[in-house]
Amino acid sequence: MAELDRPGGSPAVPDDWTYAPAPESRDIVRLRERYGLFVGGEWIEAKETYETISPASEEPLAVIGQASAADVDSAVTAARAAFANGWSSLPGSERAKYLFRIARILQERAREFAVLESMNGGKPIKESRDVDLPLAAAHFFYYAGWADKLEYAFPNRRPRPVGVAGQIIPWNFPLLMLAWKIAPALACGNTVVLKPAETTPLTALLFCDVLRQAELPAGVVNIVTGDGRTGAALVEHDGVDKIAFTGSTEVGKAIQRRLAGTGTKLTLELGGKAANIVFDDCALDQAVEGIVNGIYFNQGHVCCAGSRLFAQESIYEPLVDKLKRRLETLRVGDPLDKNTDVGAINSAMQLERIRELVESGREEGAEIYQPPCHLPEKGYWFAPTVFTNVAQSYRIAQEEIFGPVLSVLTFRTPEEAIEKANNTPYGLSAGVWTEKGSRILWMAQRLRAGVVWANTFNRFDPSSPFGGYKESGFGREGGLHGLEPYLRFDE
Ligand code: NDP
Repeated sequence: MAELDRPGGSPAVPDDWTYAPAPESRDIVRLRERYGLFVGGEWIEAKETYETISPASEEPLAVIGQASAADVDSAVTAARAAFANGWSSLPGSERAKYLFRIARILQERAREFAVLESMNGGKPIKESRDVDLPLAAAHFFYYAGWADKLEYAFPNRRPRPVGVAGQIIPWNFPLLMLAWKIAPALACGNTVVLKPAETTPLTALLFCDVLRQAELPAGVVNIVTGDGRTGAALVEHDGVDKIAFTGSTEVGKAIQRRLAGTGTKLTLELGGKAANIVFDDCALDQAVEGIVNGIYFNQGHVCCAGSRLFAQESIYEPLVDKLKRRLETLRVGDPLDKNTDVGAINSAMQLERIRELVESGREEGAEIYQPPCHLPEKGYWFAPTVFTNVAQSYRIAQEEIFGPVLSVLTFRTPEEAIEKANNTPYGLSAGVWTEKGSRILWMAQRLRAGVVWANTFNRFDPSSPFGGYKESGFGREGGLHGLEPYLRFDE
């Protein structure tokens, strides 16, 4: 069955999906021409600088400091002083007040942050507005609640803060990753030096304003911008007690090698190649929505993206047919347009990586489908893409593409689905679509993934731990589990 029946012969989607532009205003954002580094509650100048741009238009947005090893040292010294001079001994209920304040300010300034996030990162405004910002605030609220309950969370274990936490975050969810890292660290009584990704520093820098508004004591949170060299300097610094890293498996491995034997605590949240497994008894239209959300959300720049679709053979054709038709309705373009579903690729480098992997898919023999869509001339763009006829050995079925590219594979039995889904060096997330509860549980027990979603995908909640198996890293963020990496126990 190549084509689904269309009642009355009418096309499944109207021919013309033109929407009137609905741009969100940029006026709410007040950009400075240049930003320094936020150290000890003050702005300090970096000797070296670079320009951060909008990936949708390549327009320069601001000049950013490239923190040197000496700047990182100043930030660690400020964090150490803040730790020793009161923050670590502050009662949990007092720390909680700061976290609640930060959460509320993020809510109050949500539109400003959402617009800036979309300008600097290229993600659609409806995602930064409806996902990134509410979740970032929710993380601060959630961990504020734990700050004075650590003794209850870990009874008889005498939880103590670790000290200075060095945190390195990527460019796919800049503010949300900052919240995932900073909220539990502060709740546990640590101080922080955080390095945002080179391409998306602006919301982290605006967050410094929130810290001042919340009157957080100077030095408790320090933000040092820069490229990989700044991240490496933070990892190298022997005054840091814990490193929390989210990013590529390659850099994660290098950090692990560097810290082996030093006693520095480490958590790594790395890449993924998640299986989204669709059985023939599922609600097919619901599954199509879940597949689209699983891989095209945030242009596929998601470590837990459902980038490998496993379709049961009996529904392969109608599923792929429905999926392709749904793709035709995705609106690709201006991230600040409220109708946009797929925004800009984050950087020229990432676009190059996506193109290279897509080319390898063609060369290896997979069949490519891209819906007709008009891509803007300036900026970095990639059309939503589906590959069928994919063999398990192809690079597009093995490697993390981190773009809006889906590889479709098939299976016949649940055992075969498990075998194929687990055939990856990664193990961050997975999805199962079936109406049978018993099958969901059977699958969840066998899938080697940190998160398994059933009849949904890409759902996040601060109370739910998130993290990987195998090359997807170790340690958990979120929930009660997310406190542990920021504590030591005098047992
Ligand atoms: P990286 O791992 O290089 O970036 C993550 C963070 O680490 C950034 O802040 C980066 O700085 C910093 N960093 C880079 N080198 C070092 C180092 N030697 N020591 C310490 N910190 C360092 O990811 P990329 O941005 O290069 O993306 C490459 C691929 O990684 C993507 O295509 C994707 O497959 C995967 N990725 C996975 C993510 C995830 O959430 N799991 C997130 C991002 C990428 P800088 O920004 O300057 O490079």
